[in-house]
Formats: sequence, C-alpha cells, structure tokens
Amino acid sequence: LRREGFSSIPEVKWEDVGGLDFIRQKFNENIIMSIKNPEDREAFGLDLDPGFLLYGPPGCGKTLIAKAVANEAGANFIHIKGPEILDKFVGASEHSVRTLFSRARTCAPCILFFDEVDALTTKRGKEDGKGVIASLLNQLLLELDGADRRKGVFVIGATNRPDVMDPAILRPGRFGELLYVPLPSPDERVLILEALARKKPVDASVDLNAIARMEACENLSGADLAALMNKAATTAFIEKVKSPNRTLDVSIKTSHFEIALREVSPSV
Ligand code: ATP
Repeated sequence: LRREGFSSIPEVKWEDVGGLDFIRQKFNENIIMSIKNPEDREAFGLDLDPGFLLYGPPGCGKTLIAKAVANEAGANFIHIKGPEILDKFVGASEHSVRTLFSRARTCAPCILFFDEVDALTTKRGKEDGKGVIASLLNQLLLELDGADRRKGVFVIGATNRPDVMDPAILRPGRFGELLYVPLPSPDERVLILEALARKKPVDASVDLNAIARMEACENLSGADLAALMNKAATTAFIEKVKSPNRTLDVSIKTSHFEIALREVSPSV
C-alpha cells in the first residue's frame, strides 16, 4: 500500500476541467466549503460527510475533477485503485483498508479517491469464491460509517460499472451521492478544448468552437479530445523540426487540427 497511499496536493486546477458545472457546484458546496469553513460546519452539527460516487463512461473527467477539488480546497489527495488494493489484500496485508483510512486521517484534510471502486464492492457472493471481496467490503463499510474515523477525510469513488456494486455501499454516508459524468455535449467539448489549450501554444487563428462542433468530434470523450490536442501538437512539432532552418513558429494551427481530426475516433 505504500505507493498507493502516497498523498500530495494535486496540481490540477479548476480551469483544467472543461464543463461538468453541476458536479463542480456539488463539490464546492460540500467538500470545499466544509474544508474551508470547519467551525461553521461544526456549529451546524454537520459531522459525517457524504461520500460521492462518480460514474459514467471512461475518460470523461472523473479523476480530473476529483484532483481539482483537492487542489481547490488545498487538501491532500490519495489515489487508490480498486484492483490494486484487492491484490494487496489477497496477498499480505489484512489491514490495508484500515491503514489507508488512518493514513488519510494523518494528512487531513484529505480526499481519498477510490478509482475503479467497483472492484472492491461487487455484490457479495458473486465472482468471489473465497469471500475476499465480502470481507474487504465489510472493512470498508466499517471505516466509512465511523464519523470519528472519517473526520477530515472525504471519500470520492469512481466507476464505469455502478450496476455491479453492492447496494450496501451506496447508502447515505457511504458512497451515497451518485453523480453521473456523461460524455460531453457539443458545448462541453468547446469548454474541454479550451481548457486543454491553456497548456498548448494554440494559434489565435484557430477556431476551437468550430472544431469542437464538427462531425468528427461527435461522441469524443474528454480523453479523446486530449488525444486530439496532443496529435495536433505533435504534427506541428514535427513540421517545425523538419522545416528548413526551423523557421516556423511554435504554434498549433488549423491545418494541424485537420490532420489530427482524421486520426481520432470515439473510444467509448
Ligand atoms: P476512467 O474511467 O478511465 O478512469 P476518467 O473519467 O477518470 O476515466 P480522466 O482520467 O479524468 O477520466 O480523464 C483522462 C484525461 O482526459 C484527463 O487527464 C484529461 O486530459 C482529459 N479529460 C477528460 N475529461 C476532461 C474534461 N472534462 N476537461 C478537460 N480534460 C478532460
């Protein structure tokens, strides 16, 4: 668990996330306001924080927004992958879940992000001859239910498969608040491309709004749009390096996006 339990404040900022306004607002009113106003929160008798479950197709920003929440709140972030903790659990450490929460408490305020959380929480009895998942799930429930143990520890889970999860884990106080992270709409694709362009030398002449609304961008996920942006940057880079005397600007132009658009396709 050493590596997975590593905590730090992520560098992902709100501006790096395109769209997802509804989820942003949810996290702002819950986790971020709680972390920034602990006294008021306690005065209102709010002790147990809701846990959140982000669900939806891959590559649409679940991990990204969880990191941005931690950055915005100035909180530590621990990234746990469900299948990895499962492997560890089957192997040596019987206390992995408890250790994890205790580590999160020592660096509170902390966001504990369970990626692929379905691996730990499949319906009890299913696909699990040895009862390993059942006992892991029980440990996890115990930790999630303890208000004292959860002080300053905020849990967010992510999954592509909410349907396979044991309903017990989806109760209030556990991963009780379900938030759907959909494939981006055309408007959201514009916002995502703009967010991605903050980190690339995109020429002012490029119309990201028009690109995002092209047929070739239909059904692209955020991750696909990131691939598109990288492909355009790579094309521009190769063109510059190969150009005689390397006279070209460092800039990504519409022609580079046109080439990139021919190479991307929806991954979902
Ligand atoms: P998975 O279910 O596969 O874990 P995910 O929903 O957690 O996927 P992320 O890991 O957050 O997806 O996204 C992958 C990459 O795609 C991000 O690092 C980012 O570059 C890009 N991306 C996805 N969604 C967005 C978004 N809304 N805004 C900006 N970039 C995005």
